[in-house]
Amino acid sequence: MTQTFAALGVSSAFLSALQDIGYQQPTPIQSKAVAKLLDGHDLMGVAQTGTGKTAAFALPLLQRLDEANEPARPRQPKSLILAPTRELALQIHTELENFAKNTSLRSAVIFGGVGQNPQVRQLQKGVDVLVATPGRLLDLVGQGHVDLSMVCVLVLDEADRLLDMGFIRDVKRIVQQTPKSRQSLLFSATMSKGVSQLARQMLRDPIRVDVSPKQPTVEKIDQRVIMVETPDKLEMLRALLHDESLSRAIVFTRTKHGANKVAKKLCAAGISADAIHGNKSQSARQRALADFKKGRTWVLVATDIAARGLDIEGVSHVINFELPHEPEGYVHRIGRTGRAGASGVAWSLVDPSELSRLRAVEKLIRQAVARFDTALKKLDPEDTGRSKTETATSQADDRREGGSSRRRHGRQRRNQRRAA
Ligand code: AMP
Repeated sequence: MTQTFAALGVSSAFLSALQDIGYQQPTPIQSKAVAKLLDGHDLMGVAQTGTGKTAAFALPLLQRLDEANEPARPRQPKSLILAPTRELALQIHTELENFAKNTSLRSAVIFGGVGQNPQVRQLQKGVDVLVATPGRLLDLVGQGHVDLSMVCVLVLDEADRLLDMGFIRDVKRIVQQTPKSRQSLLFSATMSKGVSQLARQMLRDPIRVDVSPKQPTVEKIDQRVIMVETPDKLEMLRALLHDESLSRAIVFTRTKHGANKVAKKLCAAGISADAIHGNKSQSARQRALADFKKGRTWVLVATDIAARGLDIEGVSHVINFELPHEPEGYVHRIGRTGRAGASGVAWSLVDPSELSRLRAVEKLIRQAVARFDTALKKLDPEDTGRSKTETATSQADDRREGGSSRRRHGRQRRNQRRAA
């Protein structure tokens, strides 16, 4: 189906902005959603970052506001986009500004971890579109700096992530403060019970758009595992970073401390790297991201907070210094490469104690990941540790990990909330 943005009903102010940005054709989710959203329908979108979902919701939202042509009132945003993390909120805001550059629409972004006064000042001037993380928004609502009673379009982006991070009560409180007559959109990469429940409460007769890939991993990503003991991982990482085909890499660690340590060691080895995680101040996080995007550093060492949503061009390699606790995290991490049709490589450094995690990943992605030894020689599948001893070890691992999973989930949620 070849379609144009004009045929979907996108108006000239936005068409010329799209031309400047270089969007020539709508992506599938844009083709399916834009016209319906312009008509005012609610929408349930099952879509990951990378599908073009931001433009799918932002273009109709902006165009409807532009056509209504009503001045923005102080403290009363006309539309609200909720996002789980500051980075995602900032990224959405940047896209909105690009799309709306030929209009007089005003947008603002608010999130925690930075002073609230500049945000309050912007709200007082009046904004058409507000992008926010839930915690800071409720804070400002509580202080009387925001009034949500005029919100006519509400977007929940990455709803599954919002729920995973324990924001469900905040989200419900926010939804309750918006008018019932609003248009509502909910996007989620996965459809859990919690997300379906929220959708039922929030949406009225929504159109459903599902563009989730059948295989959760991007096909163009070449996935590889190196079996390596933890003390040797750093050396292995340095060797991988010397690969000539590598232009820009994100290295994922499980802990903030680990991210700092790896970044420091890489810098000491003359590799320009920086770390990004939830313990850094917001300005340090933005600086690390900007340096990486602009090529001032070419290795970004990140915890999972950076795994979702971030759209950085030209990441040729993702390297998992450790596998994440949850197999879904692996899919989100490696999705930082192989974007917009490009190919990418995802290495995972796997200590024997992480084998049960690797199995969980392979089960999720429904494929075996090629194993390499530390000399980067591809191992024969017959030799890749499917021996009886290993199976027994991994079963023991599974049992151990299963036993502590509830504690771990609670801890993870708390950590994620803190990080956001
Ligand atoms: P998103 O899923 O909204 O995060 O978008 C993923 C990436 O695709 C971003 O880099 C967008 O700028 C890009 N993108 C979105 N829509 C289009 C389009 N129609 N043509 C080209 N690139 C697009």
